[in-house]
Amino acid sequence: MTGEPEAGDPRSIGEIASYHAHIYYDPATTRPEAEQLRTWIGERFSVTLGRWHDVKVGPHDQAMYQVAFSSGIFAELVPWLMLNHGRLSVLVHPNTANPRRDHLADPIWIGPALDIHGDRLPEDSEAEPAPAPNTNPTLAP
Ligand code: ZN
Repeated sequence: MTGEPEAGDPRSIGEIASYHAHIYYDPATTRPEAEQLRTWIGERFSVTLGRWHDVKVGPHDQAMYQVAFSSGIFAELVPWLMLNHGRLSVLVHPNTANPRRDHLADPIWIGPALDIHGDRLPEDSEAEPAPAPNTNPTLAP
């Protein structure tokens, strides 16, 4: 249990600096549901809500917004999203030093899985810590 990991050892969750949930929606049909979900999240969880992307951005194949959160929030937020995502697809991925693997190989999907354009993601970067939360929850999950 000491020293550096060796080849063949399992990866450590210490690699995970934070998580993202990407909430996908269709601007023509499901944006109101995405707005409702965003409001509910902000009322219940200490997270960082990203800006709206009504057009495709980066590796994402549908309009979406990002929810950035720390590991300490995972055990409440992710099950809550499982029960409350409605018709929306949600991609939950870890943030390690390999964004391509985080999005393509290691995420969990809530709702139907969508395409991810992994060629637009680096295989080597700084693992991104959770930013300071920008929500002020007043309700219990
Ligand atoms: Zn992300």
